[in-house]
Amino acid sequence: MRPEIKAYNFDWMLWSTVGAASKIADGSDKELERMLKYIPNYRGIAQTIFREGDAGKQFLKMTFSYLDNIMNAHKTGKKLSITTFCFSPAIFYAMDIVPITFELLTVLAGALWKRGSFDYQDFCLETGFPETACSSQKGTLGAYLAGLGEEIDMVVCDSPGVCDTNAAAFSFAASYLDKPFYQLNFPPKLVEKRVQDYHLADYKALISFLEKQTGKKLEENRLREILEEIKIQDNLIADLEDMERLVPNPAPPIYNLFIYAGRFMFAGKSEYTKLLKFMVKEAKSKAEKGLSGLHSGKENLRAFFFYIDHYMLNLSLWEWLDKRGITHIGNILGKYFPNVAPYAKDRQEETYTINTDNMDEMLKSIAELNARMPMVRTIRGPYDAPHMWLQDSMALAEMYKADCLIYNGTPGCRNTWGMVKLMARDTEKYGYPTHIMYGDAFDERIESWESTSERLDEFFKVRRLLS
Ligand code: SF4
Repeated sequence: MRPEIKAYNFDWMLWSTVGAASKIADGSDKELERMLKYIPNYRGIAQTIFREGDAGKQFLKMTFSYLDNIMNAHKTGKKLSITTFCFSPAIFYAMDIVPITFELLTVLAGALWKRGSFDYQDFCLETGFPETACSSQKGTLGAYLAGLGEEIDMVVCDSPGVCDTNAAAFSFAASYLDKPFYQLNFPPKLVEKRVQDYHLADYKALISFLEKQTGKKLEENRLREILEEIKIQDNLIADLEDMERLVPNPAPPIYNLFIYAGRFMFAGKSEYTKLLKFMVKEAKSKAEKGLSGLHSGKENLRAFFFYIDHYMLNLSLWEWLDKRGITHIGNILGKYFPNVAPYAKDRQEETYTINTDNMDEMLKSIAELNARMPMVRTIRGPYDAPHMWLQDSMALAEMYKADCLIYNGTPGCRNTWGMVKLMARDTEKYGYPTHIMYGDAFDERIESWESTSERLDEFFKVRRLLS
């Protein structure tokens, strides 16, 4: 690793950068505008976030709060656990544990720095971790393996059987750093009594592990508080998702990123509820006037990203979509299947319901909620099996009136690369022009954003979606 990269800790650099930006957010619009010329390296990302008004500012503050928790965990007597985005942090908050979600920090590095998380990705290889693994974990994993982050206390993941490269990243970290490790398992099916019993037993064992690591019992009232907050959040997300069905869609394209990033950071915490309330308010006011959420003002096309998005410098994807009048109507990262979700109205057997009556009900609720996190829900079985990737994507594309479907992932994602051609063949049969992006959502060295966006333009032109 280059010596200059080792000068400061990875998490500290993110914390200090986002911290400075979140302080700017408290200024007036004029002050913000003036400040931009003094931060040329961060101007692009600052503009992308600040133009979303209250929601953008709250997103920034929430992200800072997340990083601040990491930096202060040990000072405040809390344990730190590394984990993955497809594991709900709700149980950590109920047990006073601070999560470090690998993929979130990798995305932040890619969005903020031209050098992205490349040096940390490469350091993973120096330690013997496979080059072909998913870059979403490697970006942050490398930094912690190199000792360029806060000392972690434990490792928790939930991807064995669903995404082995994700699971391998966490087992490798646990072994390399010599830390206690727990991994939840998920069977290939979702809706079955036997599967639900398995989820619950596994989740209870996870709680015993967390109690052992923290030396504290899970408190009933604390868990209830978190789950009640998630109920509020689920309803707010459902309001937004309902509005996203309108033509034009009154929600700006970046709202979908705010929805899932917020959920991965702060499910069950007030910071996220505040963000959702700002987004609902803004989208409602646009919906009442029949306006599009696009800053360019006119909706030309509606695209459903049937996997994940693209997270490079300045979050260029969203600005690029906006300029072309393309509405982002969601991806699988933002679909959690609570019973109140508009897309789950006729699919109640696939949903989770939050019941806070007593401890047993709460444990069942949180185990089922966790089993429906993106990826571990969607690709746990064959892509065309009931309740899986194809069925979800087709139902969502129809409901949100998609004009086309776009796949983006990472070359390390063997699970989806193994089936995406078949999937695209099927989605085309259903009448949706489908584009497969060949870049890496987390590592621009695989394909530059310029090439990726040119190929997207070509797709829209060749399929006569945009003139
Ligand atoms: S993107 Fe693919 S490889 Fe990476 S965590 Fe998700 S399923 Fe696994």
